[in-house]
Amino acid sequence: MNTSSEILNISTFEIDVIRKDIKNMHLAVYPPTGRIRLSAPARTDSEVVRLFAISKLGWIKKHIKNFKEQPRETKRSFSKGESHYYLGKRYLLDVIEHEKRNSVKLASSKIILYIQKDCTEEQRAHIMKEWYRKELKELVPELILKWEKIIGVTSNDWGIKHMRTKWGACNIDEKRIWLNLELAKKPLICIEYIVVHELVHLLERNHNEKFVKHMDQFMPKWRLHRDLLNSLPVAHNDWGY
Ligand SMILES: [Zn+2]
Repeated sequence: MNTSSEILNISTFEIDVIRKDIKNMHLAVYPPTGRIRLSAPARTDSEVVRLFAISKLGWIKKHIKNFKEQPRETKRSFSKGESHYYLGKRYLLDVIEHEKRNSVKLASSKIILYIQKDCTEEQRAHIMKEWYRKELKELVPELILKWEKIIGVTSNDWGIKHMRTKWGACNIDEKRIWLNLELAKKPLICIEYIVVHELVHLLERNHNEKFVKHMDQFMPKWRLHRDLLNSLPVAHNDWGY
């Protein structure tokens, strides 16, 4: 499918206009940052697209407001006593200086960060980030296998990405799934929901009725999981580490 994109500025909003081979215009606001995307049939006149966006301004404002009201994590300094999340559970960070390699260990109520003396805040953040990545890498293959069987699809590959505006993505032609590293902080059911969503894209490219039908069939409570995911605090500063 041929797609092209352009940016449309309406009022104070920046809208990504995606032209593709579809029949109707479709507007969506995506968590966590409230990215606005308007999908339009390839040949629709730009003025028609612009007027459509203007007619939906009220709807856009309402949705953006919802995202703005979503709680944000406070900035982390990766020091002792701070709260950090793993699989939806809150842990207190313990920081222990030692001579050996930097590492992270999970205890019952603590995440223990073993670091060398003089480890900077950025280095601590990096160690934590790599730990989240490692944990997610161990956890996800099982989920993909489980849901591939249920949905009846096969993916070729999956990976973890830092994505600013999306929890997941699916490259349908390559059958590759991308997951947002931030998911490691969220409850397992939320990770599972994103895995299911991306795998369902192997059956249906667009978020249309057919897509929703598949979701309802394979994961009847997906809306609850989605709402839980989007109600949780999002990382400070664009997933900032
Ligand atoms: Zn999708």
